[in-house]
Amino acid sequence: MASLVTGPSLVESYLQHIHSSCYAGGGGELADYIPELAQVDPNRFGLSLALHDGYVYSIADADIGFTIQSVSKPLTYALALTHKGFDAVDERIGVEPSGEAFNEISVDSRRRPRNPMINAGAILSASLLLETQPDVDKAFTELLEFYSACAGRQLALDADVYASEMRTGARNRAIAYMLQSFGMLRAAPEDAIDLYFRQCSLIVTTDDLATIGGTLANGGVNPRTGRRAVGQAVVQRVLSVMTTCGMYDGAGDWVTTVGLPAKSGVGGGIMAVLPGQLGIGVYSPLLDEHGNSVRGVSACKRLSSDLGLHMFNVARESRVTIRSFYSAREIDIVSDRSDHERRYLNGQRDRIRIYELQGDLTFSGTESVLRRLRAAVAEFDVAILDMSRVDHVDQVSRSMFSGASENINGAARTAVIVDPDGVVVRRNAHVAEPSPGAEYVVTTMREAITRAEDFLLKVAVDRT
Ligand code: GLU
Repeated sequence: MASLVTGPSLVESYLQHIHSSCYAGGGGELADYIPELAQVDPNRFGLSLALHDGYVYSIADADIGFTIQSVSKPLTYALALTHKGFDAVDERIGVEPSGEAFNEISVDSRRRPRNPMINAGAILSASLLLETQPDVDKAFTELLEFYSACAGRQLALDADVYASEMRTGARNRAIAYMLQSFGMLRAAPEDAIDLYFRQCSLIVTTDDLATIGGTLANGGVNPRTGRRAVGQAVVQRVLSVMTTCGMYDGAGDWVTTVGLPAKSGVGGGIMAVLPGQLGIGVYSPLLDEHGNSVRGVSACKRLSSDLGLHMFNVARESRVTIRSFYSAREIDIVSDRSDHERRYLNGQRDRIRIYELQGDLTFSGTESVLRRLRAAVAEFDVAILDMSRVDHVDQVSRSMFSGASENINGAARTAVIVDPDGVVVRRNAHVAEPSPGAEYVVTTMREAITRAEDFLLKVAVDRT
């Protein structure tokens, strides 16, 4: 089992487990409309999770580059909204799911592309950028700067993929000219196509997709750089459209099973967002019949169900879950001891650290608590986790706390959970099996201090 001190963290172990269980089976085909995509290694599979404080978990092929393809669509839409304003964009791109394939030549009764996540809407978004900056090179430079700000690093173009897209994009050209004939696309159609293919050919990793997702989750502020990349209102709009239209024609199934705004691309990438909490990036190039990464979809399903990440998992999330922490020296609870023991223990109280938690604990709150504990583990011998202000702990957080207290407990260190209301370890008369980790749980701070001091005395005796 993962140790709190060395080796992979509990969360990394969870993610590795999800990764390996989604690796096998599933099938799927490589995209083959251009040779570059058909040549990639079908076994690649990367997974990244970016938390609201910029910490990124990277599993397996998280550093392998691939082309962003349609995962670019929400970003260019965001840039078009920023440059042109909502009204001007809404006049020419709808926000209704089409239920049709991504490259369908699909417009509504006003002859607008139905939404920005299908090719027609994405090409129109790119054309809107050209209305402000007609020079394709300059428009691309601006676009690249924006994508890079969202990813938190300088992105670059895959020149071969771009050249191939340009050689073969008859259908996308047809869409652009059709939109021009409707009076919707007002830039030069060839330039709109050029800009659209460049944006699709940008190289990203799952760390990048997770960070871009994290930027959207954070209301537009990149969690790694701390800089605002997108306005808050634009983020809200983009996430709404990703929710209803992001996953090609499989959007309804996606919202019910995964429940995260997301966008996939034929390069094999998926970006998903849990608003207020985290961004996910997944890459595996084998695609299902909708054009979504097979392993990517199953990893997102597992992340959502195992980690409780569905956006309608209705627990009140509080971000600051550690209310305060302090040494036992700062409290006046003392246990009954002999004079000799008391003299020794009075000098040892800094070795006991109390963490007061608050709010409702779901995956990301628990993850950040455990990560802070892991980082501070050299500073204490006993951690007392005071859960008396915690109202609700979901299933995954419950097992994360039990797992963490099990593996923090050893010869040198221990953890005690103060849980008066049984939120972490359910005290349920109907359950015959004790919950894992139950032996580390007490109901009052006095009991916790007694346990902590017992532990320090035992360590002292063992040493002599
Ligand atoms: N460059 C691709 C196209 O427009 C992107 C397709 C996709 O990822 O859905 O055909």
